[in-house]
Amino acid sequence: MRLTPEQRDQVADQRGEAGPTRRATVSALEEILYEPLPVLDHGFVRVVDYMGDDAAVVQAARVSYGRGTRKVSEDRGLINYLMRHRHTTPFEMCEIKYHVKLPIFVARQWIRHRTANVNEYSARYSILDNEFYVPAPEHLAAQATTNQQGRSEVLEGAAAQRVLDLLRTEAERAYAGYAELLNEDASGATRPGLARELARINLSLGFYTQWYWKTDLHNLMHFLSLRADPHAQYEIRAYAEVMLETLKRWVPMTYAAFLEYRMNAALISATGLAVIRRLLAGDTVEPEATGLSRREWRELMQLLGRPE
Ligand SMILES: Cc1cc2nc3c(=O)[nH]c(=O)nc-3n(C[C@H](O)[C@H](O)[C@H](O)COP(=O)(O)OP(=O)(O)OC[C@H]3O[C@@H](n4cnc5c(N)ncnc54)[C@H](O)[C@@H]3O)c2cc1C
Repeated sequence: MRLTPEQRDQVADQRGEAGPTRRATVSALEEILYEPLPVLDHGFVRVVDYMGDDAAVVQAARVSYGRGTRKVSEDRGLINYLMRHRHTTPFEMCEIKYHVKLPIFVARQWIRHRTANVNEYSARYSILDNEFYVPAPEHLAAQATTNQQGRSEVLEGAAAQRVLDLLRTEAERAYAGYAELLNEDASGATRPGLARELARINLSLGFYTQWYWKTDLHNLMHFLSLRADPHAQYEIRAYAEVMLETLKRWVPMTYAAFLEYRMNAALISATGLAVIRRLLAGDTVEPEATGLSRREWRELMQLLGRPE
């Protein structure tokens, strides 16, 4: 269950409250404020607060007294310029706070992003829910043989069923053990039991945890550039893709610049650039004579839409 009925009521109450403010607000983001946006089988991302908008980036870049906004086209041009030239500090003027429910193995990857403020649900203090991640059949892929960090073909038939059964029964067994060790039964009645901080230690990485995660716009984009990238593991990418949608609602000009100059752009090495210049000049280029490794050559050709 993503949200209990009580949690749903709390979200509805908060969404029902509104008051006048002189601060910048963004109607497209207000529309989804506090709403849990589903991710994976039990997870979600909720925007719970934010500060600033596209105009705040412009305002900081111009160090202006008012909103800093000129013509929309000028603001767009400035934001594109800042993004293109990695003038990043104006983007740090905007902040966003998310509430995220995510499997522990995703949290372990996510927590490596140090430029954020995090407060995680305490499993020393509270009892974890009986919720664990089971991949959807289309994501149940075998280990890739060419890339140690990757996946290859999707498992099917009996092989897929065996994996799903194993994941479920192991997690259910682990939770049953956890529940037995606790000093509280399912109805909430207390009994002698192990401390929560110890009872949890046999739960596996697929169980869900939650946290509040606050960061600024610059570091959010850094996170998204790494985690919405096709090389990121599917499960964290699923969160990043939902957060990309929140970015689009919040700061549409910055989002467009981010896609243009970061997400859909490419970093090319000096040697790679020399290869491109020779190709443009019509030279025949032998991969072995370029100084690029086989892998770099392959990546460059893919980038140029010339797969071998
Ligand atoms: C596809 C992929 C595979 C990965 N595989 C592994 C792996 O196998 N093992 C593993 O351990 N990690 C792995 N990581 C995690 C990766 O090494 C980074 O820790 C993670 O992506 C966070 O990036 P970051 O440090 O740039 O972000 P943040 O921590 O948010 O930092 C942002 C920037 O701030 C600066 N910064 C922050 N803190 C410091 C500091 N203490 N010192 C200096 N500069 C700092 C750096 O410039 C940094 O780029 C992987 C990440 C990805 C995306």
